[in-house]
Amino acid sequence: MVSERMKGLGNARSVIRELFEYGKRRAAVVGAENIFDFSLGNPSVPAPAKVNEEAIRILREQPDAIHCYTSAQGDAVVRQRFADSLNRRFGASYTPDQFYVSVGAAASLCCVFNGLTCPGDEYVVFAPYFPEYKVFIEGAGGKMVLIPPEIEGFQIDFDAFEKSLTPQTKGVVVNSPNNPSGVVYSRKTLETLADILRTKSEEFGHAIYLITDEPYREIVFAGFEVPWIPHIYRDTIVCYSFSKSLSLPGERIGYILVPGDITDSADVYAAVAGAGRSLGYVNAPSLFQQVTSLCCDITADIKVYERNCRLLVDSLREMGYTCVEPGGAFYLFPRSLEPDDMAFSERAKQFDLLLVPGGGFGAPGHFRIAYCVQTETIEKSLPRFRALAESYR
Ligand code: PLP
Repeated sequence: MVSERMKGLGNARSVIRELFEYGKRRAAVVGAENIFDFSLGNPSVPAPAKVNEEAIRILREQPDAIHCYTSAQGDAVVRQRFADSLNRRFGASYTPDQFYVSVGAAASLCCVFNGLTCPGDEYVVFAPYFPEYKVFIEGAGGKMVLIPPEIEGFQIDFDAFEKSLTPQTKGVVVNSPNNPSGVVYSRKTLETLADILRTKSEEFGHAIYLITDEPYREIVFAGFEVPWIPHIYRDTIVCYSFSKSLSLPGERIGYILVPGDITDSADVYAAVAGAGRSLGYVNAPSLFQQVTSLCCDITADIKVYERNCRLLVDSLREMGYTCVEPGGAFYLFPRSLEPDDMAFSERAKQFDLLLVPGGGFGAPGHFRIAYCVQTETIEKSLPRFRALAESYR
C-alpha cells in the first residue's frame, strides 16, 4: 500500500512535460532549429560571472568547511546579507532572525503553507496561477479557493475576491510579476487588496496573511513598478527565490521572510521553521547559500526578456492575437484562437509551435508562451504564429 494522494501526484500527466518530451522527439525528426519550444520556464541567460567566481573562490578558500552543515534556518552571515540587501533597497529594518533560507520558492511556499495551516483553513489564489499552489496548499491540509481571471488586464476581480473571503481564510497568495501572464499588479491593485484584507481581518477577528511568491521580482520592464508589498500590507510573508533573477534554478536557493511586525510573528517564524524541519527542508545547500548572499544585489543579464516580450507582443497583435501587456517575468498569455485551448495547443503542434494550454493555469481560452529563449528563436517562430492564425481564417 502506498499513499493514494502521492501516487496520484507522481503519476499525474503534466501537459508542460509532455510538450517538452514531444519537442525532443520531434526535434530528432525535423532538427532542433525547426521546433519552437515555448513550454518551459527555464532561464535562457547564464548566471552572472560573479556567481561562478564566488563559487570557485569559496571552494578554493574553504574547501572543507563549505561542505559542512549550516544552521537549519540558513547560515547567520547569509541571512544578515539578505536582510542588509532588502533594507538598502526598500528602506526596511529586517534582521537575520526573520529569514529562513530554503531550497527555492517551491520549498518556501511549502514551509509557509505547512507552518500556517490549521484544519479547515483556506487560501485564496488568483487565476491565472502557478498550478503547483494547489498541490502545495492541499499537501499542507488546506483548501485552495480560486478566483476566476479578470481577463481584460489580469489584475484582480475585487467583487469575486471579497465574496471569497470567509472566517476560514488563512491567507491570500499573490504572484507578481506573474507566471503565466507576466502581468505586474499595480500599486493601486495592491492597495485595494490590502484595504479589503484589513477590513476582513478585523471583521473575522484574526489576521489574513498575504503570501507573496516573488521569484520574478527583479525581472521587471521599463515603465512598470513592482512595489514592496510588506510596505503596503503589514501581514505579509515573502517567499523569494534566486532561480530566475540569478538564473540558478538548479541550485535551489530562496528564502522566506517573516517580518517582525506581522501578527504573531514569533509564532509564525517558529511554525515556518518547524515546517522546514518536518518537510526535511533544513540547511539549504551551503555553497550556494554563500554565493547567492554575495550576489543578491545583482541579476543575470535579463534585458533579452524585455526585448523578446516587445517583439512577441507587437508581432502577435499585428497578426490578430489578443494579449495583455506583461510588465515582467518571461511569459506571455494570449487568448487562444478557439475557445478550446487544448485543441488550439494541439493545432499549434502542426506548426511546430509548443504552446501550453491555459486551462491548467485556471484560465481556459488562453495559452502560455515561455519566451525565455534566444531572440533569434522568436524571430524564426513568427511565420509559424502567422500561419497558425491564418489556419483559423
Ligand atoms: N512560483 C512561481 C510562480 C514559479 O514560476 C516557480 C517556478 O517556475 C516557482 C514558484 C518555483 O520556483 P523555484 O524553482 O525557486 O522553486
